[in-house]
Amino acid sequence: MKVNQAEFIISAVGPNQYPEGALPEIALAGRSNVGKSSLINRMINRKNLARTSSKPGKTQQLNYYLINKDLHFVDLPGYGYAQVSKSKREVWGKFIEDYLLRREHLKLVLLIIDLRHPPSKDDIAMYDWLKHNGVPICVVTTKADKIPKGKWQKHVKIIKEALEMDKADPHILFSSELGLGKDELWAVIENRIGY
Ligand code: GDP
Repeated sequence: MKVNQAEFIISAVGPNQYPEGALPEIALAGRSNVGKSSLINRMINRKNLARTSSKPGKTQQLNYYLINKDLHFVDLPGYGYAQVSKSKREVWGKFIEDYLLRREHLKLVLLIIDLRHPPSKDDIAMYDWLKHNGVPICVVTTKADKIPKGKWQKHVKIIKEALEMDKADPHILFSSELGLGKDELWAVIENRIGY
């Protein structure tokens, strides 16, 4: 997809603030600091749109970005470091859970994982929960530029095995720094939204 236009729309704190219309939505999930904002910025060729508009904080909010007039990226709150043992509901609040379960425009969740490390318990719990609920997933392993190319496949294997990843789910090796994986990720998104 050639991105001509991208704008921040709203930080929605409840369903009544979701944008109207029927544009497909692509949500991004991952732990805080994993690189979700950087990934959005890279996908839309902007330096700072996502990072400046998603202020981290206690508020549970969905950050909506409109891409061309074609789709919305929806940045979910990053899950934290100290919340491993809590249930998803406590970690995210019921409204995020409801969004993932009931939002009919939601077409795909990008589960963003740091290529350098094995998935956290939260990453594994998130993958399992999305699978269990039949939400379409694309696993994106990011920050690839931070490890030597020769080690990429070894790290991918560790992550796929830890997630017990379904072979039918797409996986994209990504680097926001290099732009690696950008075209492949757009292809997965376009395929899901029938673009
Ligand atoms: P978020 O909290 O998930 O939105 O994470 P950010 O996008 O703000 O990224 C967190 C930190 O990781 C920042 O310092 C980014 O510059 C850095 N970062 C994110 N993605 C990459 C990447 O692909 N490569 C490198 N080298 N750094 C990255």
